[in-house]
Amino acid sequence: MMTEEQAKSLLLKQENVYTRDPQLREPAFAYCEGYKAFLNAAKTEREAVEWAVREAEANGFVPYDPTVSCKPGDRVYRVNRGKSVMLAVIGTDAPEAGFSIVVSHIDSPRLDLKQRPLYETAGISYFKTHYYGGIKKYQWTALPLALHGTVMTESGGRVDVRIGEAEGEPVFFISDLMPHIAKDQYEKKLGDAISGEGLNIINGSLPLGEGSDAVKLGILALLHEKYGITEADLRTAELSAVPAQKAVDVGFDASMIAAYGQDDRVCAYPSLTALFETKAPARTCVVVLADKEEIGSEGVTGLRSAALAHFLTSLCENRGADYKTCFAASDCLSADVGGAYDPCYAEAYEAGNSAYLNHGVAVMKYTGARGKSGSSDASAELLAKLARIFRENDVVWQTGEYGKVDQGGAGTVATEIAMLNISVVDTGVPILSMHSPVELAAKADIYMLHRALAAYFADR
Ligand code: MN
Ligand code: MN
Repeated sequence: MMTEEQAKSLLLKQENVYTRDPQLREPAFAYCEGYKAFLNAAKTEREAVEWAVREAEANGFVPYDPTVSCKPGDRVYRVNRGKSVMLAVIGTDAPEAGFSIVVSHIDSPRLDLKQRPLYETAGISYFKTHYYGGIKKYQWTALPLALHGTVMTESGGRVDVRIGEAEGEPVFFISDLMPHIAKDQYEKKLGDAISGEGLNIINGSLPLGEGSDAVKLGILALLHEKYGITEADLRTAELSAVPAQKAVDVGFDASMIAAYGQDDRVCAYPSLTALFETKAPARTCVVVLADKEEIGSEGVTGLRSAALAHFLTSLCENRGADYKTCFAASDCLSADVGGAYDPCYAEAYEAGNSAYLNHGVAVMKYTGARGKSGSSDASAELLAKLARIFRENDVVWQTGEYGKVDQGGAGTVATEIAMLNISVVDTGVPILSMHSPVELAAKADIYMLHRALAAYFADR
């Protein structure tokens, strides 16, 4: 017969973070106060980069200058066009030993304004939108929206817009049809009930004088008065609508956080705090906050651009090292959210291989869809390295998958990293209601990701 002790050593125990250590509540909750402040300050990739640079400089990082030779302990960063940032702490090992890299993304699903957005109908002024990323369109109606973005004016100026976030500021709104007369709408499929062209944002109703475009003219007059911009300037602008809500605690026990854009700022924040904590690593440690992940990583600030390869190569050349040898010896955690098991939609999951709230960092060997298609499928060797680091550093972790087989799937930047000949695995925070205007994450998992990434950077 087997003793209870022997049986315990054979069975895998999936643990709740608080069951493992109830003392973790205090540091996890305290850590997440900083996280909520970051979420409220950084609702777009540009704002996230600004926040990251400010905090990095406060933590001793300086802009990377390839003509100045790096030495161990140096802390450098490079911004890519205001929308992505790469940071490094130089290690004592030669670059040929490989780098320890963490990549997360700072763009989130939202509604972008079209280039000729402004129009008036029925005495109401509207913005036309084109959604960015995978949204369920019906979720974006009847919701307070804030407007963020950048307008370059014909007169050569630049205006950074942020309306609807501060106390007392007006917000914007997309109407839905009242249930009383929604008979036809109710008969549509969920995915068709609200169309892309139906996501029009109400931005005003006060007419300026008379005429068919009096309300639109009133809005333009206000925009010109406040920002000095004209309708022509909107053609070159980047403006996005995001939920106006601030990050808030959820539950009587305040153990979770509801907020916009936690995919993937819930990993971006721990990536930064873990790197800030890293002082004298053996391997050079790199954090990348990427843009454009939600639309396939295309674009010059996305990970399909050569910007990351150029930065890493320069860090190698700076120390007289061969970048190909460095890349081959490097590894990378693609820190992105995982879909937490949702018992209210149990039929979409396979319970035995799902990630759970409060069960720690979720490691996903593969993502993809229909037979792992589009996945980079991490190796046993890399997974075992990660498991060892987590074991040695008391990191509570679990494995996860995107739902049951053939139910759908997802992609991450892991494939872009693999294209550089760098080993990579997806590691992140499990969340509920992913890609909803407001998403839900558990504080214990967010804090645990910080500890996991700090341990990864500190590994020798
Ligand atoms: Mn993501
Ligand atoms: Mn996403």
